[in-house]
Amino acid sequence: MCYHSALMMAVDRIEELREEALSAVASVGSTSDLESVRVRYLGWNNCSAELTEIKKGIRDLSPEERREVGGAANKATKEIETALAERREESVAVAEREKRLSSEAVDVTLPGVPYPKGSLHPSLRVIDEVVDFFVGLGYRVAEGPEVETDYYNFTALNIPPGHPARGMQDTFFLDEGLVLRTHTSPVQIRTMLSQEPPVYVVCPGRTYRRDSDPTHTPMFNQIEGLAVDKGLTLGHLKGTLAAMARHVFGEDVSLRLRPSYFQFTEPSVEMDVSCFVCGGSDPNCKVCRGAGWIEMGGAGMVDPAVLEEVDYDPEEYTGFAFGFGPDRMAMVKYGVPDLRLFFEGDLRFLQQF
Ligand SMILES: [Zn+2]
Repeated sequence: MCYHSALMMAVDRIEELREEALSAVASVGSTSDLESVRVRYLGWNNCSAELTEIKKGIRDLSPEERREVGGAANKATKEIETALAERREESVAVAEREKRLSSEAVDVTLPGVPYPKGSLHPSLRVIDEVVDFFVGLGYRVAEGPEVETDYYNFTALNIPPGHPARGMQDTFFLDEGLVLRTHTSPVQIRTMLSQEPPVYVVCPGRTYRRDSDPTHTPMFNQIEGLAVDKGLTLGHLKGTLAAMARHVFGEDVSLRLRPSYFQFTEPSVEMDVSCFVCGGSDPNCKVCRGAGWIEMGGAGMVDPAVLEEVDYDPEEYTGFAFGFGPDRMAMVKYGVPDLRLFFEGDLRFLQQF
């Protein structure tokens, strides 16, 4: 064999080894297989690889041959190393993905976590019933801000500064003439200022007074109603309230009006509903405490001074207004002895409704 062809054989062999090694690298299935491929083709110690042996023999070659064979061997080595490194990176990435998949796996056969079903707060139930009733009569729902100006909360309702009626409402005063509204009545003023009569609105909302005992809480709900039209009388007021009471408490209840006093209505009345539990026949009744009647709220014919304040002509229009405490009504309806339970957020209590 001539010298030249021996050289060519070495270069050809390197090319064969390179191809073999690359296809071995491409076909391995695990990191440990990858390591044995590396040892087989690039191993240096103990059992040296064939390519290594060729490289070791280069030093015995002539300078020209060294360049030829050495160049081919180095190029093959580099390519195999690169292929090995790429496969190693790939297999690490695969392992990581598999690890993540198994740690994030969801067992779709596990039973689900039940979400507790919510229900309406007892006060909201009563508010909804009352609002539904009035909407059915053609009333519109009106709302207003809970932080009110002194003007809307008092002055416009015929309670001027310094008037003793202000002392009846334990008010939370804020800065610069603002208060937490002590009743929903300011909504009536805002409504009348924004439209011409006839007015038929019902105004549910939160109100605030400095008060806390079994039947008073610093925050409580109110529902007010206002009707202003030509020819409205106390008879219309009584008929409306009686129908509302029957809607909420049952067909058999009757309504009683007692004379009272409010600064913004004249005449003013307190309204009582006959006891829907005993009808007045049980002196030990827990709901009415034997009285036969349950206090429901206040009402009256809108004071002409209030109508004048909003530029309605009291000679042409009359109106009636009423207000209930839906929290109180819910207490009575569901037999809850302490109003504060309504606002403590205790699920054991609320889940009973
Ligand atoms: Zn009773």
